Amino acid sequence: MKLQRKLISLTGAMTHKRTLGLSLVLAALSIGACQPSLAQAPRGSAPAASILFQDVRIFDGKSSALSAASNVLISGNLIERISAAPIILGGNANVQIIAGKGRVLMPGLIDVHWHAMLVRPTPAAILSSDIGYFNLLAGAEATSTLMRGFTTVRDMGGPSFGLKRAIDEEVLPGPRIYPSGAMITVTGGHGDFRQLSDLPRTVGGMLSRVEQIGGSMIADSPDEVRLRAREQLMQGASQIKLTAGGGVASPFSPLDVSTFTEPELRAAVEAAENWGTYVATHAYTPVAIQRSIAAGVKCIEHAHLMDDATARLMAEKGIWLSTQPFLDLAGASALGPDEQAKMREVVAGTDRVYALARKYGIKTAFGTDVLFSKALAERQGAMLADLTRWYTPAEALIMATSTNAELLSLSGPRNPYPGKLGVVEAGALADLLLVDGNPLENIRLVADPERNFLVIMKNGRIYKNTLPN
Ligand SMILES: [Zn+2]
Repeated sequence: MKLQRKLISLTGAMTHKRTLGLSLVLAALSIGACQPSLAQAPRGSAPAASILFQDVRIFDGKSSALSAASNVLISGNLIERISAAPIILGGNANVQIIAGKGRVLMPGLIDVHWHAMLVRPTPAAILSSDIGYFNLLAGAEATSTLMRGFTTVRDMGGPSFGLKRAIDEEVLPGPRIYPSGAMITVTGGHGDFRQLSDLPRTVGGMLSRVEQIGGSMIADSPDEVRLRAREQLMQGASQIKLTAGGGVASPFSPLDVSTFTEPELRAAVEAAENWGTYVATHAYTPVAIQRSIAAGVKCIEHAHLMDDATARLMAEKGIWLSTQPFLDLAGASALGPDEQAKMREVVAGTDRVYALARKYGIKTAFGTDVLFSKALAERQGAMLADLTRWYTPAEALIMATSTNAELLSLSGPRNPYPGKLGVVEAGALADLLLVDGNPLENIRLVADPERNFLVIMKNGRIYKNTLPN
């Protein structure tokens, strides 16, 4: 028990559920029988106590106005009831009361273009370090991500399956992860991090370092694409990510190139659709975007170099745009001069992509695509606030909550967290932030989560509570 208490005090804010979960894990360890049934906490199971937020004004993820003073009851992992009238509970109810005192309750934030495994390591470290080291870095970053109020991320490439499992099993605090697994690319494409000395590749031969760790997979025919896509689905990918054109961070792909052929893209789309889910492609240029759409891709990542006709096509076909407010070269600070030149080209397209998204009413989602920098990750909330160059604070916050959740729901039966995300309403999953101030008036509040997010809840569990008792 002593060891257990120590562990609990080390890991911060805890509930009964967590104590029980740890007891089970420790019990399993102590009898030397770490069977899956004990080690795997049931997904989405209910905490022991109910939690009542009293006197909060709600930003519900959809409306641009706050609610009147309300009370919100959390039972298990769900929002059970929202009421302007006081919620009266029985005398023997095991309820934790959180006095909101008029503060704002809002949905947890969602980042739909994240790389949980690639945020902290440098590119050199990825090529040369042990996978155990990456997992520990990623675990620490996952906890920081949750502490910034991002309760869900869609991982757009990287070996995040183990991290996701550990978070879901409550081994460590972190966001919900919608994993893509390895991003699939072509020889020389975005995500091929080999050196020229690694060529030529023998089909079926040894994998490159980044492939071995599941960061990306190289595929040069429809058959190879199908194989690699199915491997990600087998591991639990909630969507498949392909790189349809060149990218900033890769050494051998100019931005203007289109990589996969349409039959290759279609092979991935078929594999994903057979599995009930969809393909998202990394694509900056009109050609890469249009070819993706022709092949059945449902979501375009980036699109900073798209043109008017392509934007119109996306809107007509109901294709999602998952893009990022890149405003400077910070995203390429860990990279060389060639990559920084490519980043400059992308940054120059940022105004245009948001203008086109607005002009044609494209379904637009928010992500940050932070790579290789802990410092940049700390700007995750600030990047959301940056959206106010093109959107009102309410529009930006709606995008990062209910709209992003709508994109996540494209995973259909492969959705790892069935239930409603990104909204504060009865029956939704209880991912909530209590904000010290009104983010609809001052969106900069989300840029300083340590100070302004007083309570952070995910799946009905409190991970942070700095309100005075
Ligand atoms: Zn990315």
